[in-house]
Amino acid sequence: MQQPVTPSPTDFIRDIIDNDLCAGKNEGRVATRFPPEPNGYIHIGHAKSVCLNFGLALQYKGTCNLRMDDTDPIGESMEYVESIIRDIRWLGFDWDQRLFYASDYFEKLYAFAVKLIKKGVAYVCSLNADEIREYRGTFTEPGKDSPYRNRLVKENLDLFARMRAGEFPDGAHTLRAKIDMAAPNIVMRDPILYRIKREPHYRTGNKWVIYPMYDFAHCLSDALENITHSICTLEFENNRPLYDWIVERLIEKNRPRQIEFARLNLSYTVLSKRRLIELVQKKYVNGWDDPRMPTVSGMRRRGYTPEAIRQFCAAIGVAKNDNLIDVALLEHCVREDLNERAPRAMCVLRPLKVIIDNYPEGKVQQLNCANHPKRPDMGTRGVPFSREIYIEREDFMENPPKKYNRLAPGREVRLRNAYVIKFEKMVKDEKSGEIIELHCSYAPETLEGPPADGRKVQGVIHWVSTEHAIPVEVRLYDRLFTISNPGAEEEFLKFLNPSSLEILQNSMAEQSIADARPLLSYQFERQGYFCADENDTKPGKPVFNRIVPLRDSWTKISEKEA
Ligand code: ATP
Ligand code: MG
Repeated sequence: MQQPVTPSPTDFIRDIIDNDLCAGKNEGRVATRFPPEPNGYIHIGHAKSVCLNFGLALQYKGTCNLRMDDTDPIGESMEYVESIIRDIRWLGFDWDQRLFYASDYFEKLYAFAVKLIKKGVAYVCSLNADEIREYRGTFTEPGKDSPYRNRLVKENLDLFARMRAGEFPDGAHTLRAKIDMAAPNIVMRDPILYRIKREPHYRTGNKWVIYPMYDFAHCLSDALENITHSICTLEFENNRPLYDWIVERLIEKNRPRQIEFARLNLSYTVLSKRRLIELVQKKYVNGWDDPRMPTVSGMRRRGYTPEAIRQFCAAIGVAKNDNLIDVALLEHCVREDLNERAPRAMCVLRPLKVIIDNYPEGKVQQLNCANHPKRPDMGTRGVPFSREIYIEREDFMENPPKKYNRLAPGREVRLRNAYVIKFEKMVKDEKSGEIIELHCSYAPETLEGPPADGRKVQGVIHWVSTEHAIPVEVRLYDRLFTISNPGAEEEFLKFLNPSSLEILQNSMAEQSIADARPLLSYQFERQGYFCADENDTKPGKPVFNRIVPLRDSWTKISEKEA
């Protein structure tokens, strides 16, 4: 697979790696990993971590493993594994043969735990969950030692083996590291390493009734894979001493090192997996790949490109403090990318019929239109012009304000790639007063240039020939939430945008897009970028998702700030 080279800015993580390389650590190797838990689809925040980890491997000619961090059976499944693989591939990254599963290490992790017991630094504790919490103390008060803390090694080995053998009910015992119940960092107060949990695992089935905790499994999985730099998000900062504590006691050389960076928060959406699952399960959206979702699969279906997402991740960089990134920046990256690559086409979203009275009946002209204004290599296409066309309903106003330079009584407008037309009259429905059709006249000499008398025509509008147009369904999206930081709200569902999806059943598009294949994108002139829906597009019957409108609010924001 062709691997993308993302721009390589310098940041504190690259500084750390540079220093390690200078100091001759890890025999000059750089080995990273991306460790998703297969309990949901990956989202734009994960994409940031994917770009960072795989990007570092590319930059330093190292390796990046894909590891399913599947040590907690609840909620994990093969469906999620498959979606993660598909999404990371689509983002443009590759891991050769290095797809690993932490669940494949269960036997080795168990052996590591036994080793800790033998060293006298882990013990089986028989306090229940409430008691453990009680004994743990608080930020201001130290904890107290568990009464089981001084069990003999022999007894611990026996109990731990019987925990594994399924002799005890869930929660009866845990395996804990023997560190320091008075440690200022609560994470270090004899953390739990293993718990009993009778829950079938999607890969190991019922083989195990004890499962390792994240803190125990993660660092050792890193070590087993010879990871050099284990990059994770800031919430694990307090867990780093525990990471090091475990690794120092069990791994002789080439110890991996944990580095934390700020997670991505994006405005007008939520990036917590738990909340995304809630949106899917309670059907506030139509599945994980709903084009309004911040998931990679949702963004793909919406029509975002991997290039745009990678560019976005490079633009936001990595930092040490959490912040909220404006979704307008992501949309800006999408627009920049599509502007280069999307062929142009015309589609009238809300059609109004126009009859050009002085154009010969039955005559059809094939107008030659460029597929891209700046890229002759993208070629041209024929767009049929005839006596009856559709224009956008909002491109006509009966009583327009002065500055309106579209069609109105007494006014002229240019049809994109075609003639200048002039308003003649309108026909209204007698009962409702709704405008049913317009009658116009055209100036035959204006196909190639301005009107003969040199008068100025301001506006340009898009159109399609009624006889040749194909009906298409168009889906317009708005932000999923009405407030910029729904992630900060406990009752985030209250802020769902009720009009985040508008479906137009009667849009009319030019013929050339009839055969749009799923995931093909266009710029519909004046309306934005649109992508043929991955699931619902049928041959000859495309359904289009609006990816983004043309207007770029990011440019405006950044200009204002400049
Ligand atoms: P959970 O809270 O369920 O653990 P998670 O979002 O941490 O969810 P993981 O599958 O554990 O999901 O994440 C895989 C990797 O992606 C981790 O290294 C995590 O730090 C990183 N990651 C997750 N969310 C973000 C985010 N918003 N920004 C950057 N990296 C993220
Ligand atoms: Mg996690």
